[in-house]
Amino acid sequence: MTRILTNAIRALTRLLNREGRDAFESQRLAELSLPDDTAAALDHLEARYSIDIALPGDPFCIWLEHGQYLTGVEGQPASAEEASWYVPLFAEEFGHYPPLLVRKTLARVVLCGELFRSQKPNPRAGKCGRFRVVDSNPLHFAHRLQGGIPDGGNGVLYLSMTCETDDKDHVRKTIHHEFYHCVQQRQFGGYGDRGWAGLNRPEFVYGPGGLRVNEGTDPTFWVMPAEDWGNGFLNQYSMSAPEEDQAEIFAHLLTEPARVGFRLPADDILCGKVERLKATLEEFCPDVNAEFWQEVEELRPPYGV
Ligand SMILES: [Zn+2]
Repeated sequence: MTRILTNAIRALTRLLNREGRDAFESQRLAELSLPDDTAAALDHLEARYSIDIALPGDPFCIWLEHGQYLTGVEGQPASAEEASWYVPLFAEEFGHYPPLLVRKTLARVVLCGELFRSQKPNPRAGKCGRFRVVDSNPLHFAHRLQGGIPDGGNGVLYLSMTCETDDKDHVRKTIHHEFYHCVQQRQFGGYGDRGWAGLNRPEFVYGPGGLRVNEGTDPTFWVMPAEDWGNGFLNQYSMSAPEEDQAEIFAHLLTEPARVGFRLPADDILCGKVERLKATLEEFCPDVNAEFWQEVEELRPPYGV
C-alpha cells in the first residue's frame, strides 16, 4: 500500500513539475505484487535516492528515439519469487552509490523479467535535418535478450531480474555497467568522453561498438586476437568502443576493485584510464571521491579470495 501511495504522489509531482516524460511512464502498468520484505527494501531505496523503482506486473513495449534509430524496449513481468531473489542483490549493489550520483543520473529504474531490445530505422531521421544519419552501415535487429538497457537521456535504467541469474557476479557487474552508461549520457552527452581513446597506444583502434559486436552479424570482432596483459583493457568487450571500455572499468572497480588494483602496477594504460574515470566522475559528482572508492574497496573481498 505504501509503495502504491508513494508512487502515485511521485507521479502527480512529476506531472505538476512537467518532468519525467519518459515513454515508460505513459504505459500505466500494474505493479507486481511483492512480499513485504522485498517491498520494504524497494521503499528504502526509493526514499534514499528520490527515484521510482518500477516492477511492472504487465508486459510493456516502448520505442525510444536515438538519432537515426528507434530502440525498442520490451519487458515481461518477473514473478514475485524472481523479484525476491533479485531485489536484495540489487539493493546491495545500488546501495554503494552516493545519493547525489543517482539524483544527477536517474529518475527511474524499471526491474522486469525477460528484457528484449530491438533496433530499426527512425522514419524521422534525415528529414527536416532533425536527426542526421551518421551510421552508413545501419544496424537493425529485433527482440534480442538483454541484461539491461540504459536510457540515460530520459534518466531511466531498465534491468532484467532473470538474466544469467546462475552467475551472481555477472548480475552485479551488469547493474553497474548499465548504470554507468546512464551516467555517461549525463556527464558527456551523446559524444562520450572525447579524450578517452587517446589514452590507448597510438596504433589502437576500437571495434565497431558494443551493440554491433553483440547484435550484428559479423563475428570478426570476437575472433580478433586479444591483446596481452598490460594492454589497457580488462576484457575483449572493452575493446569494442570507448564507452564500453569505461563501463567495464566502472563495473569492475565497483565489484572487484582489488583485482583491478592488482593489475595496475603492470599496466600504465589501464592506470591512466582508472585515474581519468575517477577524476571525471568526481567532477560530475563530488561525492564520488577518494573516500567513496576506499569504502567500496573495504567492502569487497581482497584479490584472490
Ligand atoms: Zn555497455
